[in-house]
Amino acid sequence: MSIAIPQKSKHQPSNIRLEDKVAIITGGASGIGASTVHIFHENGAKVVIADIKDSLGQAIADKLGENVYYIHCDVSNEDDICNLIDTTVSKYGRLDIMYNNAGIMDHAVGGIVDAKKSDLERLFGVNLVGAFLGAKHAARVMIPQRRGCILFTTSVCTAIAGLSTHSYAASKYAILGLAKNLTPDLGQYGVRVNCISPYGVVTSVPGIAEDQRSKVEQRLSDVGNLKGEILKPECVARAALYLGSDEANYVSGLNLLVDGGFSVVNPTMLKFANLV
Ligand code: NAD
Repeated sequence: MSIAIPQKSKHQPSNIRLEDKVAIITGGASGIGASTVHIFHENGAKVVIADIKDSLGQAIADKLGENVYYIHCDVSNEDDICNLIDTTVSKYGRLDIMYNNAGIMDHAVGGIVDAKKSDLERLFGVNLVGAFLGAKHAARVMIPQRRGCILFTTSVCTAIAGLSTHSYAASKYAILGLAKNLTPDLGQYGVRVNCISPYGVVTSVPGIAEDQRSKVEQRLSDVGNLKGEILKPECVARAALYLGSDEANYVSGLNLLVDGGFSVVNPTMLKFANLV
């Protein structure tokens, strides 16, 4: 009997998981994006923060110093996206990870009859158009490199219904559809495409007052599936770290749910099936 001795792989994980990689994070000035900026930077990446919250984005870049750069970029504006990609490449020489994370929510109430076309257009204008433009202009650089990683923040609402407005769910499903369709287009050039779909995370999107944050986090945890854990922005950032790193070198076309199993459980059936 022969014993297989593991060979040292060129993709061997190290403590510094993004050494020398160049990453853009849209929506990097706050919430999930800001957390990802910190984790990517700690892991050796050169990071470009792209956002419209200039003072917040610049403050993070100033705090982290070398290898973190802020660029004003409205992801719905193609000239801004072009400038973002071109400035990154001229500053750092290439682009390894494009994390299309910027997004907005709406707080509309009611069903489809009350839903407003203007809300749908506003959400698609940022969430989908931003994702589309980010992918398009990242691909223009990554295709000749024959390497790269495109990530999107979608949402648990791409896996289970009834959690958000129709406009928000549709915008996130549209990004998932875009990501799936990009997978064969870009796979032939060695470019990986993946989505990260978080459950509810307390950031600035839900518009929660500072003193209410821990209560809302606890409430989300209580109605969630996985007990004893709170979903924090850094949990989502660590999923991006994995997908952006060479540890995920053969992972493409995935919608990685960071939801503690919420979307696979139908709670109404648990008591009936004597599971709880
Ligand atoms: P956040 O508001 O803290 O961060 C979003 C960032 O995107 C902000 O910095 C904002 O300025 C930026 N942004 C908005 N419009 C922009 C534009 N046109 N151009 C450039 N930047 C823009 O919220 P977050 O919760 O960290 O959201 C990040 C992503 O995660 C979003 O795509 C959101 O839809 C998604 N998401 C959030 C949750 C949640 O519960 N918080 C759950 C699932 C998915």
